[in-house]
Amino acid sequence: MKIRDILRENPVTISMEVFPPKSDVRFESVRGTVREIARLRPSFVSCTYGAGGGTSRYTVEISQDIMAEGVPSMAHMTCISSTKDTVRTQIKKIKDAGVENILALRGDVPDGMDFPHPRYYEHAVQLVEEIREVYPDACIGGACYPEKHPDAFNKDEDIRHIREKVDAGCDFLTTQMFFNNSIYYNYLYRLREAGVTVPILAGIMPVTSRRQMERSIQLSGCVIPPELTALADRFGDSPRAMQQAGILYASHQIIDLIANGCGHIHVYTMNKPEVAAGILNNLRGII
Ligand code: FAD
Repeated sequence: MKIRDILRENPVTISMEVFPPKSDVRFESVRGTVREIARLRPSFVSCTYGAGGGTSRYTVEISQDIMAEGVPSMAHMTCISSTKDTVRTQIKKIKDAGVENILALRGDVPDGMDFPHPRYYEHAVQLVEEIREVYPDACIGGACYPEKHPDAFNKDEDIRHIREKVDAGCDFLTTQMFFNNSIYYNYLYRLREAGVTVPILAGIMPVTSRRQMERSIQLSGCVIPPELTALADRFGDSPRAMQQAGILYASHQIIDLIANGCGHIHVYTMNKPEVAAGILNNLRGII
């Protein structure tokens, strides 16, 4: 099923992100984890492509596993260090596998890469155009950044480029993680003012360890509110306590978003079924 239809038909959706194994030997165990997450019946599950050290080889297979559980899936795809041929081959692979949804991303510029490179793609908008050509029926998502993309000069410029991606054919956008909902509400207002009218999925990352929180800041540059820092300071040395506090913090963020009419939520599960289940449990009476 196409995500654009799911979003149109349901005012509240809770979808989840998983990632492929970091090495080939972990493939079967990651598959098991993903199945557990799919069995929680989220609105859909997306699978990353080479992010955070993961491989890109299994994204399509894992997306098929998700569909085999009766849950719609979305395959992420990046283009930064790919030739046109590689990109077209991957789009065709996704299409042949019956995966109807693609998150079109640029990817991070690899260290030491000559960027921009004449043989490779420069921006996600080019990938969106490529997908529209090779797989016209696909439902396409794009990424957006409530605290601006780290490479962008300022928020206005960043939002202008988001608008270009949508004009090129993105059906919806998913945000980078954020921990302060006010930042998201402000961003949403600016997107709408800039004429971006597609559904926006709020990306929520449950923080379950201090190390993960530090890594999130390093990768995304997002602001950590004092309330969350206090949780990490107090409970960071106790994995059980930190996990429970992180699930509650994320659940509270989600409840506030839904209460304010922002009903499309994408949870970064970090491949932790117990965390995904904990959040859904906290929302049981609400969704
Ligand atoms: P773009 O849309 O190309 O934007 C990147 C930068 O270029 C921005 O600063 C933007 O303002 C600027 N820009 C865009 N268009 C133009 C233009 N025409 N001219 C000048 N500047 C322009 N990474 C992975 O490797 N694998 C994943 O699976 C993955 N999943 C993700 C999922 C989500 C929801 C998010 C938010 C990010 C994900 N990422 C993933 C990280 C992403 O690849 C990086 O953030 C990357 O640096 C930017 O990707 P993008 O698609 O947003 O790029």
